[in-house]
Amino acid sequence: MAVVAYKCPNCGAPLEFSPESQKFECSFCGSSFSEEELQKYEPAQSSEQTIVQEPAEEEGKEETAVLYTCPSCGAQIVTTETTAATSCLYCHSPVVLEGRLQGEFHPDRVIPFAFTREEAERRFYEWVAKKRYVPKGYFDTGKTEYFMGVYYPYWVLDCDTSANYTANANRVRVWRDSRNEYTETSVYRIHRQGDLHFEDLTHCALDSEGRELADGVMPYRVLEAIPFKMPYLSGFRAEIRNLETDALEPVFQDDIHKYTENLLRDTVTGYDSVYNSSLDSDVKRKDYQYALFPVWAFVYTGADQKKYYYSMNGQTGKVAGILPLDRKKLLRDAVLAGLGIAAVLLMIGGLLI
Ligand SMILES: [Zn+2]
Ligand SMILES: [Zn+2]
Repeated sequence: MAVVAYKCPNCGAPLEFSPESQKFECSFCGSSFSEEELQKYEPAQSSEQTIVQEPAEEEGKEETAVLYTCPSCGAQIVTTETTAATSCLYCHSPVVLEGRLQGEFHPDRVIPFAFTREEAERRFYEWVAKKRYVPKGYFDTGKTEYFMGVYYPYWVLDCDTSANYTANANRVRVWRDSRNEYTETSVYRIHRQGDLHFEDLTHCALDSEGRELADGVMPYRVLEAIPFKMPYLSGFRAEIRNLETDALEPVFQDDIHKYTENLLRDTVTGYDSVYNSSLDSDVKRKDYQYALFPVWAFVYTGADQKKYYYSMNGQTGKVAGILPLDRKKLLRDAVLAGLGIAAVLLMIGGLLI
C-alpha cells in the first residue's frame, strides 16, 4: 500500500490543506497551491511498506495496530485499521494512506474543513460562555487538548419512494337547543398516496468510540460537498468506514418511514382527530454515496481533573458533547421557577375570588 506525503514543489516541506485559504500551503516557505496546481506534481511515496499487525488488547476490545514507513523520514507510523490519513510522530509530516482510499473505498465526495483550529477553539469558548448551567469559570481559554481535525466516513442516501397512508378521522359538531345538547360525529376513512424523493439522508459509517462524536454534530450541508481528492486529507486525520450500507439499512429505513409519515400526515387537515393510521412505503430507487465530512475533536480537562470529550462540525461549527453542570445553580433556578408558578397561581386565585 502506498503511503504518500504531499510536499511543497518549491522547498520539499510538507503541504497541508488550509481551511482559511482553501488552498494547500507550505508553512516553511509560505507557498500556496490550488488543487489544480498541485495535481501537476507527484506526491512523495514510500516505496517499501512495512506492515506489522499486532493486536493490542484494550478494555476487552481488540484493536489492531498497523505500521507504515514515513515517506519523509523513514520512521514508523502507527495507525489503526481504519485510519486513512494521519501524521508522522517524529517529523510531523502529514501522510495519506492512499491504498485505503482506493477502489470501493474511494470516497465520492468530501466537505473540506471550513475554518481553522484556532477558529474552532474560539467558537467552542464562545459556545460554553453562553451556557447557563456551566459552573462559572470552569472553562479557561487555551486549555483544550488533543485538538484534532478528523474526517469521518458517512453514507449519504438519495432515494425515491412510493407510499400509501391510511387513517380514520373524526369531525365533531356540537349544538344545543333549549332542552338538549346534540353531538354529531362524522367518521372518515382517509387515504393518501404519494411519490416522494429524499436527498442527502446521512449516517456515520464508522462503528467505533468516535461514532457518537461524529453523529452528534450532524447535519452537514451536503449540497456543498465536492468531488473527493486525496490532498484534502493532508494535515488531518481521516478514518475509513467499517460499516457497509446493509448494516445501516434499518436506520435509513426508519428515517424514510418517519419522514414519509410526517409528510403525508401533514396533508390531512380539518379534522378533530386522526387515529388508526398505517403506512406502506416502497423504495423504488436508492443511490448511496460514500463521503468524508470534517469534525474537530478535542478533550477538555476541568479543574476537577474530569475529562470532557467534544466534537465540532468542521463545516457549520455545531458542537456535541456533555457539559459540566452547576447543580446548585440549576436547583436554585428550578426552585425560583416553581415559586414563580406558585405566585401566578395565587394571583389567578386572588382574581377569581
Ligand atoms: Zn515550501
Ligand atoms: Zn516522518
